[in-house]
Amino acid sequence: MVMLNRFRTLAAMRHDHTQQVTVVGAGVVGLCMALRLQRLGRQVLLVDRQPAGTGTSSGNAGYIAIETIDPLSTMSSLRSVPRQLLDRHGALKLPMRYLPTAAPWLMRFAAAARPDQAERGRQALVSLNSQAVDAWRRCLTDIGAAGALSNAGHLLVWESSSAAQPRRLIERLARHDIRAEWQSSAEVRERIPALSARVKQGVWFPQPAKVADPAMLCRRLFDAFMARGGRWSQQAIRHVESDGERAILHGETERIVTNQLVIAAGAYSHRLCADLGLDVPLETERGYHLTLPGACGLLPHSMESAERHCVLSPLRSGLRIVGISEIGGLKLQPRQQRFAILKRHLQALIDGPDGFADAPRTWMGFRPTLPDSLPVLDRHPRLANVFLAFGHQHLGLTQAAVSAEWLAESVVYGKHGERLSPFRVTRFERRCRHLSAPSNPVRAG
Ligand SMILES: Cc1cc2nc3c(=O)[nH]c(=O)nc-3n(C[C@H](O)[C@H](O)[C@H](O)COP(=O)(O)OP(=O)(O)OC[C@H]3O[C@@H](n4cnc5c(N)ncnc54)[C@H](O)[C@@H]3O)c2cc1C
Repeated sequence: MVMLNRFRTLAAMRHDHTQQVTVVGAGVVGLCMALRLQRLGRQVLLVDRQPAGTGTSSGNAGYIAIETIDPLSTMSSLRSVPRQLLDRHGALKLPMRYLPTAAPWLMRFAAAARPDQAERGRQALVSLNSQAVDAWRRCLTDIGAAGALSNAGHLLVWESSSAAQPRRLIERLARHDIRAEWQSSAEVRERIPALSARVKQGVWFPQPAKVADPAMLCRRLFDAFMARGGRWSQQAIRHVESDGERAILHGETERIVTNQLVIAAGAYSHRLCADLGLDVPLETERGYHLTLPGACGLLPHSMESAERHCVLSPLRSGLRIVGISEIGGLKLQPRQQRFAILKRHLQALIDGPDGFADAPRTWMGFRPTLPDSLPVLDRHPRLANVFLAFGHQHLGLTQAAVSAEWLAESVVYGKHGERLSPFRVTRFERRCRHLSAPSNPVRAG
């Protein structure tokens, strides 16, 4: 009762600041969410501590990876872990000083490889990915930016000449109606003449789309949101509380009272969830990129190396190579050696001018990853006015628009459809504490 009165007083005091819906996090997921809610008639306040879309969502490969339907944790991916960790040029990194922190998450990650669970995860990823391109088309057409998405296709290549792996992949994807065609050495070179002699074969995916540039995309989404009367506040949210009807956001510069709250804070989302009594096992897969401004003409479309686990993508800002999964949390500095690994892969895969001698632009970002590789798209189990949209791992760009469409139905109409059931936060319920008064809040920001 005391709590409720406190909310009412605050709401009355700050009547003109009361927002219908506040979205915390203006990455690609929060931006899509904000636009969708606006489209459904809500007045939306978007909050981020940095300029919209300039975090992890700005540095990805721009690739709508609908054929990526395997969860990260499977029996076969676990078998490859020791080899990858021992390979100093490998894609998987686990800094020793972060190991004790990561250990509980790693155990849950390993447990998620059980074949029945991995198969459920695969089905859930298929359900999102199969709607991803259409959802992006609707989102971008709605804001007059349909040209930001192109249907370029995607080439996965192997340096080994054994056809067993590509064949198995094609068969597995066919079971989910995902088109994939095996390509000989000559055929891959017809698609990408600059491929090095090491590349022996490939698989061509005609369906995947890509965006012209992820940072530009975020800017377009944000500009459309603002042009439609959206509200924006740049500040870190340090703490959130809710009584189920109203939420209060304690920001670094002001306190915001809101009817509904959406947490879309990427790899930081678990901190805000903790304020609201949810203990969500969200970990960070740090990913790196190099961008070579002058070299995007070398690739007509994106490509990926199955053995080196990296993606190359021609973007407006240049040719970008992305890769590395470093389970390293949010605080460690980027490791310079990771950039050297990416450069080595680039030089091995593409015959570039002067072996890509120019200094590329370097960047690191935080993939928000849950042990079962599925995002959380849900209403808080005990607070009807709080919604959760995070944990999209390597697929946040791919799944942002469809996630927003599905979860916005829940926010606006209270329709929490069956299709959202694999993405409930209660799948981690053993870890979810009962909501307690925020006497010992975990601070965000
Ligand atoms: C190298 C790399 C390549 C990738 N390539 C692809 C790809 O090709 N295709 C694909 O689909 N996905 C890709 N991804 C994954 C994708 O980029 C992410 O899944 C996605 O960007 C996550 O978006 P988000 O909106 O959830 O998080 P973010 O972009 O991290 O946005 C979250 C925002 O919340 C804000 N925030 C957090 N806490 C607070 C707080 N307390 N107060 C205020 N603001 C807060 C942050 O400042 C941030 O701006 C890649 C990722 C990496 C690292």
